[in-house]
Amino acid sequence: MATILKPDICVIGAGSGGLSVAAAAAAFGVPVVLIEKGKMGGDCLNYGCVPSKAMIAAGRRAHQMRNADPFGIASVEPDIDFRKVNAHIHSVISAIAPNDSVERFTALGVRVIREEARFKDRRTVIAGDAEIRARRFVVATGSSPLVPPIPGLDEVDYLTNETIFERTRRAGHLVIIGGGPIGIELAQAHRRLGCEVTVVEASSALGKDDPELAAIVLARLRDEGITIREKTKVVRVERRGKTIVRVHVETQSGSETIDGTHLLVAAGRAANVETLDLGKAGIAFDRKGIKVSDKLRTTNRRVYAIGDVAGGLQFTHVANYHAGLVIRALLFRLPAREDPAIIPWITFTDPELAHVGLNEADAMKQYKGRIRVLRWPYAENDRAQAERETTGFIKLVTDRRGRLLGATIVGANAGEMINMWALAIAKKLTMRDVAGYVSPYPTTSEIGKRAAIAYFSDATRKPSVRRVVRFLRFFG
Ligand SMILES: Cc1cc2nc3c(=O)[nH]c(=O)nc-3n(C[C@H](O)[C@H](O)[C@H](O)COP(=O)(O)OP(=O)(O)OC[C@H]3O[C@@H](n4cnc5c(N)ncnc54)[C@H](O)[C@@H]3O)c2cc1C
Repeated sequence: MATILKPDICVIGAGSGGLSVAAAAAAFGVPVVLIEKGKMGGDCLNYGCVPSKAMIAAGRRAHQMRNADPFGIASVEPDIDFRKVNAHIHSVISAIAPNDSVERFTALGVRVIREEARFKDRRTVIAGDAEIRARRFVVATGSSPLVPPIPGLDEVDYLTNETIFERTRRAGHLVIIGGGPIGIELAQAHRRLGCEVTVVEASSALGKDDPELAAIVLARLRDEGITIREKTKVVRVERRGKTIVRVHVETQSGSETIDGTHLLVAAGRAANVETLDLGKAGIAFDRKGIKVSDKLRTTNRRVYAIGDVAGGLQFTHVANYHAGLVIRALLFRLPAREDPAIIPWITFTDPELAHVGLNEADAMKQYKGRIRVLRWPYAENDRAQAERETTGFIKLVTDRRGRLLGATIVGANAGEMINMWALAIAKKLTMRDVAGYVSPYPTTSEIGKRAAIAYFSDATRKPSVRRVVRFLRFFG
Protein backbone atom coordinates (compact mmCIF):
# COMPACT_ATOMS: atom_id res chain seq x y z
CA MET A 1 0.00 0.00 0.00
CA ALA A 2 1.26 3.47 -0.89
CA THR A 3 2.30 5.79 1.93
CA ILE A 4 0.32 9.02 1.50
CA LEU A 5 2.17 12.20 2.46
CA LYS A 6 0.55 15.63 2.57
CA PRO A 7 3.30 18.23 3.14
CA ASP A 8 2.95 21.92 2.31
CA ILE A 9 5.84 21.73 -0.16
CA CYS A 10 7.29 18.84 -2.15
CA VAL A 11 10.67 19.50 -3.79
CA ILE A 12 11.93 17.21 -6.56
CA GLY A 13 15.74 17.23 -6.84
CA ALA A 14 18.31 17.79 -4.08
CA GLY A 15 20.77 19.94 -6.04
CA SER A 16 21.59 23.60 -5.52
CA GLY A 17 18.03 24.84 -6.08
CA GLY A 18 16.05 22.07 -4.37
CA LEU A 19 18.24 22.02 -1.25
CA SER A 20 17.88 25.78 -0.82
CA VAL A 21 14.07 25.62 -1.01
CA ALA A 22 13.91 22.66 1.39
CA ALA A 23 16.29 24.23 3.93
CA ALA A 24 14.47 27.58 3.93
CA ALA A 25 11.02 25.97 4.18
CA ALA A 26 12.17 23.76 7.09
CA ALA A 27 13.77 26.76 8.84
CA PHE A 28 10.34 28.43 8.88
CA GLY A 29 8.67 25.27 10.22
CA VAL A 30 6.87 24.40 6.97
CA PRO A 31 6.39 20.64 6.37
CA VAL A 32 8.50 19.73 3.34
CA VAL A 33 9.33 16.53 1.43
CA LEU A 34 12.53 16.41 -0.65
CA ILE A 35 12.95 13.69 -3.30
CA GLU A 36 16.35 12.79 -4.79
CA LYS A 37 17.09 9.89 -7.11
CA GLY A 38 20.87 10.29 -7.27
CA LYS A 39 23.53 11.92 -5.12
CA MET A 40 22.56 14.60 -2.60
CA GLY A 41 24.03 17.92 -3.74
CA GLY A 42 23.25 17.36 -7.42
CA ASP A 43 25.52 18.43 -10.25
CA CYS A 44 27.30 21.32 -8.57
CA LEU A 45 28.73 19.28 -5.71
CA ASN A 46 29.31 15.97 -7.46
CA TYR A 47 29.90 16.55 -11.17
CA GLY A 48 30.12 20.31 -11.73
CA CYS A 49 31.32 23.43 -9.92
CA VAL A 50 33.10 21.77 -7.00
CA PRO A 51 35.17 19.07 -8.76
CA SER A 52 35.94 21.39 -11.69
CA LYS A 53 37.18 24.18 -9.43
CA ALA A 54 39.22 21.68 -7.39
CA MET A 55 40.82 20.38 -10.59
CA ILE A 56 41.45 23.94 -11.82
CA ALA A 57 43.15 24.71 -8.48
CA ALA A 58 45.47 21.69 -8.93
CA GLY A 59 46.29 22.83 -12.47
CA ARG A 60 47.01 26.37 -11.26
CA ARG A 61 49.48 25.04 -8.66
CA ALA A 62 51.31 23.07 -11.35
CA HIS A 63 51.38 26.14 -13.61
CA GLN A 64 52.82 28.29 -10.80
CA MET A 65 55.60 25.74 -10.24
CA ARG A 66 56.53 25.89 -13.92
CA ASN A 67 56.50 29.69 -13.94
CA ALA A 68 58.17 30.80 -10.70
CA ASP A 69 61.38 32.21 -12.28
CA PRO A 70 60.23 35.84 -12.51
CA PHE A 71 59.81 35.84 -8.69
CA GLY A 72 63.38 34.68 -8.13
CA ILE A 73 62.31 31.10 -7.45
CA ALA A 74 63.56 28.38 -9.79
CA SER A 75 60.80 26.98 -12.01
CA VAL A 76 60.42 23.20 -11.89
CA GLU A 77 58.43 20.71 -13.94
CA PRO A 78 55.98 19.31 -11.37
CA ASP A 79 55.69 15.59 -10.84
CA ILE A 80 51.94 15.09 -11.26
CA ASP A 81 50.27 12.00 -9.81
CA PHE A 82 46.79 11.87 -11.35
CA ARG A 83 45.60 9.42 -8.68
CA LYS A 84 46.46 12.02 -6.03
CA VAL A 85 44.86 14.82 -8.06
CA ASN A 86 41.73 12.67 -8.11
CA ALA A 87 42.00 12.15 -4.32
CA HIS A 88 42.31 15.94 -3.88
CA ILE A 89 39.15 16.51 -5.97
CA HIS A 90 37.18 13.94 -3.98
CA SER A 91 38.42 15.17 -0.62
CA VAL A 92 37.09 18.64 -1.51
CA ILE A 93 33.71 17.09 -2.41
CA SER A 94 33.73 15.12 0.87
CA ALA A 95 34.49 18.26 2.87
CA ILE A 96 31.40 20.00 1.49
CA ALA A 97 29.07 16.96 1.26
CA PRO A 98 27.86 17.00 4.92
CA ASN A 99 26.13 20.36 4.24
CA ASP A 100 23.98 18.65 1.60
CA SER A 101 23.52 15.29 3.34
CA VAL A 102 20.36 13.37 4.17
CA GLU A 103 21.42 13.49 7.85
CA ARG A 104 21.62 17.30 7.86
CA PHE A 105 18.34 17.78 6.05
CA THR A 106 16.54 15.20 8.20
CA ALA A 107 17.85 17.03 11.29
CA LEU A 108 16.48 20.29 9.86
CA GLY A 109 13.05 18.65 9.72
CA VAL A 110 12.92 17.76 6.02
CA ARG A 111 11.52 14.37 5.03
CA VAL A 112 14.02 13.07 2.47
CA ILE A 113 13.01 10.32 0.03
CA ARG A 114 15.78 8.66 -2.04
CA GLU A 115 13.75 7.66 -5.11
CA GLU A 116 12.97 8.82 -8.63
CA ALA A 117 9.92 11.10 -8.68
CA ARG A 118 7.23 11.35 -11.35
CA PHE A 119 3.86 13.04 -11.55
CA LYS A 120 0.76 10.83 -11.29
CA ASP A 121 -1.66 13.68 -11.96
CA ARG A 122 -1.91 17.47 -11.53
CA ARG A 123 -1.57 17.29 -7.73
CA THR A 124 0.21 14.03 -6.96
CA VAL A 125 3.83 12.89 -7.22
CA ILE A 126 4.94 9.28 -6.85
CA ALA A 127 8.35 8.37 -5.42
CA GLY A 128 8.93 4.68 -4.63
CA ASP A 129 6.02 3.57 -2.48
CA ALA A 130 5.13 7.13 -1.43
CA GLU A 131 2.37 9.26 -2.92
CA ILE A 132 2.88 12.93 -2.20
CA ARG A 133 -0.08 15.29 -2.36
CA ALA A 134 1.50 18.63 -1.55
CA ARG A 135 -0.04 22.10 -1.52
CA ARG A 136 2.80 23.19 -3.84
CA PHE A 137 5.52 21.37 -5.80
CA VAL A 138 8.93 22.69 -6.80
CA VAL A 139 10.67 20.89 -9.68
CA ALA A 140 14.45 21.31 -9.37
CA THR A 141 15.68 18.35 -11.38
CA GLY A 142 18.60 20.14 -13.07
CA SER A 143 20.22 19.18 -16.35
CA SER A 144 22.45 16.49 -17.86
CA PRO A 145 25.21 16.59 -20.46
CA LEU A 146 23.74 16.97 -23.93
CA VAL A 147 25.18 14.29 -26.16
CA PRO A 148 24.82 15.36 -29.81
CA PRO A 149 23.80 12.71 -32.36
CA ILE A 150 27.30 12.32 -33.85
CA PRO A 151 27.70 9.07 -35.82
CA GLY A 152 30.00 6.64 -34.01
CA LEU A 153 29.78 8.39 -30.63
CA ASP A 154 27.88 5.53 -29.03
CA GLU A 155 30.64 3.13 -30.08
CA VAL A 156 33.48 4.92 -28.24
CA ASP A 157 33.89 5.39 -24.49
CA TYR A 158 33.39 9.13 -24.39
CA LEU A 159 33.62 11.12 -21.16
CA THR A 160 31.23 13.76 -19.83
CA ASN A 161 31.27 15.91 -16.71
CA GLU A 162 29.67 12.93 -14.93
CA THR A 163 32.68 10.67 -15.54
CA ILE A 164 35.75 12.86 -16.09
CA PHE A 165 36.32 13.55 -12.40
CA GLU A 166 36.53 9.81 -11.72
CA ARG A 167 39.71 9.42 -13.76
CA THR A 168 42.83 8.41 -11.87
CA ARG A 169 45.16 8.32 -14.90
CA ARG A 170 46.34 11.15 -17.08
CA ALA A 171 44.82 11.29 -20.55
CA GLY A 172 47.52 11.37 -23.25
CA HIS A 173 45.58 13.56 -25.66
CA LEU A 174 42.14 14.78 -24.58
CA VAL A 175 39.88 15.92 -27.42
CA ILE A 176 37.03 18.10 -26.15
CA ILE A 177 33.87 18.57 -28.20
CA GLY A 178 32.53 22.00 -27.21
CA GLY A 179 34.29 25.30 -26.57
CA GLY A 180 31.83 26.72 -24.03
CA PRO A 181 32.83 27.55 -20.45
CA ILE A 182 32.81 23.90 -19.30
CA GLY A 183 34.97 22.69 -22.21
CA ILE A 184 37.38 25.62 -21.95
CA GLU A 185 37.81 25.40 -18.15
CA LEU A 186 38.51 21.67 -18.34
CA ALA A 187 40.85 22.16 -21.31
CA GLN A 188 43.13 24.48 -19.35
CA ALA A 189 43.01 22.36 -16.18
CA HIS A 190 43.98 19.19 -18.10
CA ARG A 191 46.70 20.96 -20.07
CA ARG A 192 48.28 22.28 -16.89
CA LEU A 193 48.10 18.78 -15.42
CA GLY A 194 50.20 17.46 -18.29
CA CYS A 195 47.72 16.35 -21.00
CA GLU A 196 47.79 17.30 -24.65
CA VAL A 197 44.42 19.01 -25.32
CA THR A 198 42.45 19.86 -28.46
CA VAL A 199 39.14 21.74 -28.29
CA VAL A 200 36.77 21.44 -31.26
CA GLU A 201 34.06 24.09 -31.50
CA ALA A 202 31.51 24.34 -34.33
CA SER A 203 31.12 28.09 -33.89
CA SER A 204 33.29 30.44 -31.73
CA ALA A 205 34.85 29.35 -28.44
CA LEU A 206 33.39 31.24 -25.45
CA GLY A 207 30.84 32.50 -27.97
CA LYS A 208 28.41 33.81 -25.32
CA ASP A 209 30.99 36.27 -23.99
CA ASP A 210 32.23 39.61 -25.30
CA PRO A 211 34.64 38.57 -28.09
CA GLU A 212 37.14 41.33 -27.22
CA LEU A 213 37.66 39.89 -23.72
CA ALA A 214 37.16 36.21 -24.63
CA ALA A 215 40.03 36.59 -27.13
CA ILE A 216 42.44 37.25 -24.25
CA VAL A 217 41.47 33.99 -22.53
CA LEU A 218 41.75 32.01 -25.76
CA ALA A 219 45.15 33.54 -26.56
CA ARG A 220 46.44 32.46 -23.13
CA LEU A 221 45.13 28.92 -23.63
CA ARG A 222 46.84 28.72 -27.02
CA ASP A 223 50.08 30.06 -25.45
CA GLU A 224 49.89 27.23 -22.93
CA GLY A 225 49.79 24.72 -25.78
CA ILE A 226 46.08 23.99 -26.16
CA THR A 227 44.83 23.58 -29.73
CA ILE A 228 41.50 25.35 -30.19
CA ARG A 229 39.77 24.57 -33.47
CA GLU A 230 36.89 27.03 -34.09
CA LYS A 231 34.36 26.84 -36.93
CA THR A 232 35.11 23.13 -36.93
CA LYS A 233 32.29 20.60 -36.87
CA VAL A 234 32.64 17.05 -35.62
CA VAL A 235 30.92 14.79 -38.17
CA ARG A 236 31.94 11.32 -37.01
CA VAL A 237 34.04 9.55 -34.42
CA GLU A 238 35.59 6.10 -34.48
CA ARG A 239 37.81 3.93 -32.35
CA ARG A 240 41.19 3.06 -33.92
CA GLY A 241 42.89 0.16 -32.20
CA LYS A 242 42.91 -0.01 -28.42
CA THR A 243 44.00 3.49 -27.55
CA ILE A 244 43.04 5.96 -30.27
CA VAL A 245 39.76 7.75 -30.80
CA ARG A 246 39.66 9.37 -34.23
CA VAL A 247 37.52 12.50 -34.61
CA HIS A 248 36.46 13.39 -38.16
CA VAL A 249 35.87 17.11 -38.56
CA GLU A 250 34.78 19.51 -41.25
CA THR A 251 36.43 22.90 -41.39
CA GLN A 252 36.03 25.81 -43.78
CA SER A 253 38.93 24.37 -45.79
CA GLY A 254 37.77 20.75 -45.93
CA SER A 255 37.73 17.48 -43.98
CA GLU A 256 40.36 16.43 -41.44
CA THR A 257 40.89 13.94 -38.65
CA ILE A 258 42.13 14.47 -35.11
CA ASP A 259 43.49 11.49 -33.20
CA GLY A 260 43.16 11.58 -29.42
CA THR A 261 43.33 9.08 -26.59
CA HIS A 262 40.20 10.34 -24.83
CA LEU A 263 37.10 12.22 -25.86
CA LEU A 264 35.16 14.63 -23.61
CA VAL A 265 31.69 15.73 -24.70
CA ALA A 266 30.97 19.23 -23.36
CA ALA A 267 28.46 20.31 -25.99
CA GLY A 268 25.73 21.87 -23.85
CA ARG A 269 23.12 20.74 -21.37
CA ALA A 270 19.72 19.01 -21.61
CA ALA A 271 17.04 19.78 -19.01
CA ASN A 272 16.04 16.76 -16.89
CA VAL A 273 12.37 16.50 -17.87
CA GLU A 274 12.17 13.08 -19.49
CA THR A 275 11.20 10.84 -16.56
CA LEU A 276 8.89 13.24 -14.72
CA ASP A 277 5.65 12.49 -16.62
CA LEU A 278 5.09 16.24 -16.86
CA GLY A 279 2.23 15.74 -19.33
CA LYS A 280 0.14 14.01 -16.64
CA ALA A 281 0.43 17.14 -14.50
CA GLY A 282 -0.34 19.59 -17.32
CA ILE A 283 3.16 21.07 -17.20
CA ALA A 284 4.38 22.42 -20.55
CA PHE A 285 8.01 22.00 -21.55
CA ASP A 286 10.18 22.14 -24.63
CA ARG A 287 13.75 21.33 -25.66
CA LYS A 288 15.15 24.04 -23.37
CA GLY A 289 13.26 22.95 -20.27
CA ILE A 290 10.05 23.55 -18.31
CA LYS A 291 8.19 26.66 -19.40
CA VAL A 292 7.91 29.13 -16.51
CA SER A 293 6.54 32.62 -15.98
CA ASP A 294 8.75 35.36 -14.55
CA LYS A 295 7.43 34.18 -11.16
CA LEU A 296 8.81 30.69 -11.98
CA ARG A 297 5.30 29.22 -12.13
CA THR A 298 4.70 26.41 -14.61
CA THR A 299 1.50 25.92 -16.60
CA ASN A 300 0.20 24.00 -13.56
CA ARG A 301 -0.36 26.69 -10.92
CA ARG A 302 0.53 24.30 -8.07
CA VAL A 303 3.96 23.68 -9.55
CA TYR A 304 7.09 25.87 -9.76
CA ALA A 305 10.29 25.03 -11.65
CA ILE A 306 13.71 26.41 -10.70
CA GLY A 307 17.37 26.12 -11.62
CA ASP A 308 18.72 24.40 -14.73
CA VAL A 309 15.43 22.65 -15.53
CA ALA A 310 13.68 26.03 -15.92
CA GLY A 311 15.56 26.62 -19.19
CA GLY A 312 17.30 29.93 -18.46
CA LEU A 313 20.88 30.65 -17.41
CA GLN A 314 22.34 27.49 -15.89
CA PHE A 315 24.40 28.36 -12.82
CA THR A 316 24.30 27.43 -9.16
CA HIS A 317 23.74 31.04 -8.13
CA VAL A 318 20.74 31.18 -10.48
CA ALA A 319 19.26 28.05 -8.86
CA ASN A 320 19.78 29.66 -5.43
CA TYR A 321 18.27 32.96 -6.62
CA HIS A 322 15.24 31.08 -7.98
CA ALA A 323 14.91 29.23 -4.66
CA GLY A 324 14.83 32.55 -2.80
CA LEU A 325 12.11 33.90 -5.12
CA VAL A 326 9.95 30.79 -4.73
CA ILE A 327 10.32 30.88 -0.94
CA ARG A 328 9.26 34.55 -0.91
CA ALA A 329 6.17 33.69 -2.93
CA LEU A 330 5.23 30.46 -1.13
CA LEU A 331 5.96 31.33 2.47
CA PHE A 332 5.38 35.06 2.61
CA ARG A 333 3.17 35.73 -0.41
CA LEU A 334 5.58 38.53 -1.32
CA PRO A 335 5.93 39.65 -4.94
CA ALA A 336 8.84 37.76 -6.50
CA ARG A 337 9.77 38.22 -10.15
CA GLU A 338 12.93 36.94 -11.77
CA ASP A 339 15.21 39.60 -13.23
CA PRO A 340 17.68 37.79 -15.51
CA ALA A 341 19.46 41.09 -16.23
CA ILE A 342 21.15 41.11 -12.81
CA ILE A 343 22.77 37.67 -13.09
CA PRO A 344 26.56 37.55 -13.32
CA TRP A 345 28.63 34.67 -14.71
CA ILE A 346 32.23 33.64 -14.57
CA THR A 347 34.48 31.37 -16.61
CA PHE A 348 37.12 30.09 -14.19
CA THR A 349 40.06 30.06 -16.56
CA ASP A 350 43.34 31.86 -15.97
CA PRO A 351 42.82 34.72 -16.69
CA GLU A 352 39.25 34.60 -15.38
CA LEU A 353 36.43 36.03 -17.46
CA ALA A 354 33.49 37.57 -15.61
CA HIS A 355 30.41 39.40 -16.80
CA VAL A 356 27.17 41.04 -15.62
CA GLY A 357 24.49 43.06 -17.42
CA LEU A 358 24.51 43.98 -21.10
CA ASN A 359 27.55 43.45 -23.28
CA GLU A 360 28.67 46.21 -25.64
CA ALA A 361 26.92 44.83 -28.73
CA ASP A 362 23.56 44.34 -26.98
CA ALA A 363 23.77 47.72 -25.24
CA MET A 364 24.57 49.36 -28.57
CA LYS A 365 21.42 47.83 -30.09
CA GLN A 366 19.16 48.46 -27.12
CA TYR A 367 20.29 52.07 -26.61
CA LYS A 368 20.60 52.86 -30.34
CA GLY A 369 24.28 53.69 -30.05
CA ARG A 370 23.84 56.12 -27.14
CA ILE A 371 26.27 54.40 -24.82
CA ARG A 372 29.75 54.97 -23.40
CA VAL A 373 32.40 52.26 -23.21
CA LEU A 374 35.11 52.61 -20.56
CA ARG A 375 38.18 50.44 -20.19
CA TRP A 376 41.05 50.23 -17.73
CA PRO A 377 43.96 47.79 -18.04
CA TYR A 378 45.44 45.58 -15.31
CA ALA A 379 48.89 46.77 -16.46
CA GLU A 380 48.08 50.22 -14.95
CA ASN A 381 47.39 48.67 -11.54
CA ASP A 382 50.08 48.46 -8.84
CA ARG A 383 48.84 45.21 -7.29
CA ALA A 384 48.67 43.54 -10.69
CA GLN A 385 52.28 44.61 -11.28
CA ALA A 386 53.37 43.22 -7.89
CA GLU A 387 51.67 39.91 -8.62
CA ARG A 388 52.93 39.88 -12.24
CA GLU A 389 49.29 39.51 -13.33
CA THR A 390 49.17 42.36 -15.81
CA THR A 391 47.12 40.65 -18.52
CA GLY A 392 43.54 41.84 -18.87
CA PHE A 393 41.22 44.79 -18.43
CA ILE A 394 37.81 45.89 -17.25
CA LYS A 395 35.21 47.12 -19.71
CA LEU A 396 32.22 49.09 -18.46
CA VAL A 397 29.25 50.01 -20.62
CA THR A 398 27.09 52.93 -19.45
CA ASP A 399 24.23 54.94 -20.80
CA ARG A 400 24.84 58.58 -21.71
CA ARG A 401 24.10 59.65 -18.13
CA GLY A 402 26.65 57.29 -16.66
CA ARG A 403 24.29 54.57 -15.40
CA LEU A 404 26.01 51.21 -15.55
CA LEU A 405 24.53 48.86 -18.17
CA GLY A 406 27.14 46.12 -18.11
CA ALA A 407 30.58 45.15 -16.84
CA THR A 408 33.02 42.56 -18.13
CA ILE A 409 36.42 41.79 -16.64
CA VAL A 410 39.16 39.57 -17.97
CA GLY A 411 42.14 39.08 -15.67
CA ALA A 412 43.30 37.71 -12.35
CA ASN A 413 40.49 37.46 -9.75
CA ALA A 414 37.90 38.79 -12.21
CA GLY A 415 35.43 36.38 -10.60
CA GLU A 416 35.86 38.04 -7.21
CA MET A 417 35.85 41.55 -8.69
CA ILE A 418 32.55 41.05 -10.56
CA ASN A 419 30.70 40.92 -7.23
CA MET A 420 30.69 44.70 -6.79
CA TRP A 421 29.58 45.19 -10.40
CA ALA A 422 26.71 42.73 -9.90
CA LEU A 423 25.63 44.89 -6.96
CA ALA A 424 26.03 48.02 -9.10
CA ILE A 425 23.78 46.53 -11.81
CA ALA A 426 21.18 45.30 -9.30
CA LYS A 427 21.07 48.71 -7.61
CA LYS A 428 21.29 50.70 -10.88
CA LEU A 429 24.39 52.58 -9.74
CA THR A 430 26.07 55.28 -11.82
CA MET A 431 29.69 56.12 -12.52
CA ARG A 432 29.31 58.96 -10.01
CA ASP A 433 28.46 56.37 -7.30
CA VAL A 434 31.44 54.22 -8.23
CA ALA A 435 33.86 57.15 -8.43
CA GLY A 436 32.72 58.21 -4.96
CA TYR A 437 33.68 55.18 -2.88
CA VAL A 438 37.10 54.52 -1.36
CA SER A 439 38.86 51.55 -2.92
CA PRO A 440 41.60 50.10 -0.69
CA TYR A 441 45.15 50.15 -2.09
CA PRO A 442 46.71 48.06 -3.54
CA THR A 443 43.89 45.89 -4.92
CA THR A 444 43.11 44.88 -8.47
CA SER A 445 39.52 46.10 -7.87
CA GLU A 446 40.90 49.64 -8.17
CA ILE A 447 40.83 49.24 -11.96
CA GLY A 448 37.02 49.46 -11.75
CA LYS A 449 37.14 52.82 -10.04
CA ARG A 450 39.72 54.04 -12.55
CA ALA A 451 37.43 53.05 -15.42
CA ALA A 452 34.53 54.86 -13.75
CA ILE A 453 36.60 58.04 -13.36
CA ALA A 454 37.44 57.84 -17.06
CA TYR A 455 33.73 58.46 -17.68
CA PHE A 456 34.16 62.02 -16.44
CA SER A 457 37.45 62.69 -18.17
CA ASP A 458 35.92 62.07 -21.57
CA ALA A 459 32.56 63.62 -20.69
CA THR A 460 33.64 67.20 -20.99
CA ARG A 461 36.40 69.34 -22.35
CA LYS A 462 35.85 72.08 -19.72
CA PRO A 463 39.18 72.96 -18.03
CA SER A 464 37.54 73.15 -14.57
CA VAL A 465 36.15 69.61 -14.91
CA ARG A 466 39.45 68.38 -16.30
CA ARG A 467 41.11 69.72 -13.14
CA VAL A 468 38.62 67.75 -10.99
CA VAL A 469 39.31 64.62 -13.01
CA ARG A 470 43.06 65.04 -12.60
CA PHE A 471 42.43 65.43 -8.85
CA LEU A 472 40.31 62.24 -8.81
CA ARG A 473 42.94 60.33 -10.77
CA PHE A 474 45.56 61.42 -8.27
CA PHE A 475 43.60 60.75 -5.08
CA GLY A 476 40.93 58.38 -6.42
C1 LIG B 1 31.48 20.89 -15.22
C2 LIG B 1 30.51 21.92 -14.69
C3 LIG B 1 31.01 23.02 -14.00
C4 LIG B 1 30.14 23.96 -13.50
N1 LIG B 1 30.66 25.04 -12.84
C5 LIG B 1 29.83 25.97 -12.35
C6 LIG B 1 30.35 27.10 -11.65
O1 LIG B 1 31.56 27.23 -11.49
N2 LIG B 1 29.49 28.00 -11.15
C7 LIG B 1 28.14 27.87 -11.31
O2 LIG B 1 27.39 28.72 -10.84
N3 LIG B 1 27.60 26.82 -11.98
C8 LIG B 1 28.42 25.87 -12.50
N4 LIG B 1 27.89 24.79 -13.13
C9 LIG B 1 26.42 24.69 -13.27
C10 LIG B 1 25.77 24.16 -11.98
O3 LIG B 1 26.34 22.92 -11.63
C11 LIG B 1 24.26 24.01 -12.19
O4 LIG B 1 23.75 25.21 -12.71
C12 LIG B 1 23.54 23.69 -10.88
O5 LIG B 1 23.99 22.48 -10.35
C13 LIG B 1 22.02 23.62 -11.13
O6 LIG B 1 21.37 23.32 -9.93
P1 LIG B 1 19.94 22.63 -9.98
O7 LIG B 1 19.44 22.61 -8.56
O8 LIG B 1 19.08 23.25 -10.99
O9 LIG B 1 20.21 21.14 -10.51
P2 LIG B 1 21.21 20.00 -10.01
O10 LIG B 1 22.25 20.51 -9.13
O11 LIG B 1 21.62 19.27 -11.22
O12 LIG B 1 20.27 19.04 -9.14
C14 LIG B 1 19.21 18.34 -9.70
C15 LIG B 1 18.99 17.08 -8.90
O13 LIG B 1 17.73 16.51 -9.27
C16 LIG B 1 17.85 15.09 -9.27
N5 LIG B 1 16.78 14.56 -10.12
C17 LIG B 1 16.63 14.68 -11.45
N6 LIG B 1 15.50 14.08 -11.85
C18 LIG B 1 14.91 13.56 -10.75
C19 LIG B 1 13.72 12.82 -10.49
N7 LIG B 1 12.87 12.51 -11.47
N8 LIG B 1 13.45 12.44 -9.23
C20 LIG B 1 14.29 12.76 -8.20
N9 LIG B 1 15.43 13.46 -8.38
C21 LIG B 1 15.73 13.87 -9.63
C22 LIG B 1 19.25 14.86 -9.83
O14 LIG B 1 19.72 13.59 -9.45
C23 LIG B 1 20.03 15.99 -9.18
O15 LIG B 1 20.63 15.60 -7.97
C24 LIG B 1 28.73 23.81 -13.65
C25 LIG B 1 28.23 22.70 -14.32
C26 LIG B 1 29.09 21.75 -14.84
C27 LIG B 1 28.52 20.57 -15.55
